[in-house]
Amino acid sequence: MSQHKEYQGKDPNWCPGCGDFGVLRAMQTAAADLGLARKDTVLVSGIGCSGNITAYFRTYGFHGIHGRALPAATGIKLANPDLTVLVAGGDGDGFGIGLGHFMHAARRNIDVTYIVMDNQVYGLTKGQTSPTTPATMSTKASPMGPMADPVRPLELALAGGATFVAQAFSGDMKQLVALLKEGVRHRGFSLINVQSPCVTYNELNTYAFFREHTYDLAKRGHDAMDLEAAHRVARDAEGVPTGVLYRADRPTMQDHLPRAEGMPGLVASGGDPAAAYAAAADRFHGWADAFRVR
Ligand code: SF4
Ligand code: MG
Repeated sequence: MSQHKEYQGKDPNWCPGCGDFGVLRAMQTAAADLGLARKDTVLVSGIGCSGNITAYFRTYGFHGIHGRALPAATGIKLANPDLTVLVAGGDGDGFGIGLGHFMHAARRNIDVTYIVMDNQVYGLTKGQTSPTTPATMSTKASPMGPMADPVRPLELALAGGATFVAQAFSGDMKQLVALLKEGVRHRGFSLINVQSPCVTYNELNTYAFFREHTYDLAKRGHDAMDLEAAHRVARDAEGVPTGVLYRADRPTMQDHLPRAEGMPGLVASGGDPAAAYAAAADRFHGWADAFRVR
């Protein structure tokens, strides 16, 4: 049994050829390579085809409501900082109804890894335009197209203060696994925007399109510590950059919380639940004291 199978859950009900299969497999492989303990790992997802991934990835999971995966993940990470918290969803979920949460998770630098399966449509609801649909694209469900320019997730992440911003293509497994591992290892908010073709409702952004238009930033000498260079790359309207656009070292939200570090988690692994609860209550009172107006 290869190690990635340890993280295999139910069989996905995605359409044959959906890009999300590659993302799921890459996540399982990255988890195996990193040796993530299933009991100490939580995957949080939103609504959409990709949101079903919590059933397919065998760790703890929380399938939230539309656009609300990041707030749930923030609460989970703050309650138990020892957990590895992954968040997964689609472009409609994350950059439509969840856009406000995306920006605030980035600026708070909450230590979670956000994996977006960006396919430029709402697939689950049969091909409406999503926030990332190209202005020129029409679909059966939205024949007039979006009638607006798309949002640019990479630029938004940079503007919001994300400390790890990367893009990948689900057809390039090797790079995707490497980026997922880097994102999980990074301490702070990590965005990995994955171009993940919807083979049923998107006839423009296909595997062939991405094979032709993606380019690897690492092979172009991109300096991922240079924020201005990252913004320039994120604005590229001709090609699709892949790799790490930006990384920085900045305190996480936990670092700003008095007494958060070194305290046991709310659900300490293998610990006494009563003691874990008492420690969590003690932590809360510590915060309350620290924030009290004197
Ligand atoms: Fe994937 Fe599109 Fe099918 Fe949804 S509708 S499972 S995104 S191919
Ligand atoms: Mg989508």
